[in-house]
Amino acid sequence: MDKKLVEALNRQLVAEYYSGYLYLQMAAWLERRNLKGFAHWMKIQAREEACHASIFFNHLASRGAEVVLDKIDAPPNAFKDIADVFEATLEHERSVSRSIDRLVELAFEVKDHAARILIEWFVTEQIEEEASASEILEKIRILGKEPGPALLAMDSSLAGRAFSLPAPLAEK
Ligand code: MG
Repeated sequence: MDKKLVEALNRQLVAEYYSGYLYLQMAAWLERRNLKGFAHWMKIQAREEACHASIFFNHLASRGAEVVLDKIDAPPNAFKDIADVFEATLEHERSVSRSIDRLVELAFEVKDHAARILIEWFVTEQIEEEASASEILEKIRILGKEPGPALLAMDSSLAGRAFSLPAPLAEK
C-alpha cells in the first residue's frame, strides 16, 4: 500500500478513538447531571466510534500494512449546557466528515480502490452521524431555555437507543 495512505489511515484510526473518547467524556458530563438517556446515547456513540477504529485496523492488517497507534488527545470536559454538548458533537462530526473526504481523495490519487471502497462506507456513515447530532440539537433548541418535562421526555426516548454493529464489521 502507498505509504502516505497507510499513514493517513492510521491517523484516522486514532481519530476514531478520539471521537469515542470525546463522546465518553460527554456521557460522563450528562450522567452527572442525571440525564441518563442522553448519557446512554453518547455511550452507544462511543462504542460505534471504537468500531470505526476497528474497521480501519482490520483493513490495514488484512492488507499487510503496519498498524501504528499514536496517542489519543484528552477531550474537553467542560460544557455550558446540554445544547453546548450537542453543538460540539455536530461540529466534531462535521470535521470528521472533512477528514473522511480527504481520505477518499487520497485513495483516488494513489489509485487504491480497495481503500477507496472502504472509505466510501464512511462517507455515507457521516451523513447519518451529522443528521442524528443535528436532529438532537435542533430539538434541544426548540425546547429553549427552560426545557423542563420535554427534556425529560427526550431523555427517556434516547435511553432506548440500541447498539448495532456497523456493517463492515457485521459482515466478518
Ligand atoms: Mg466515526
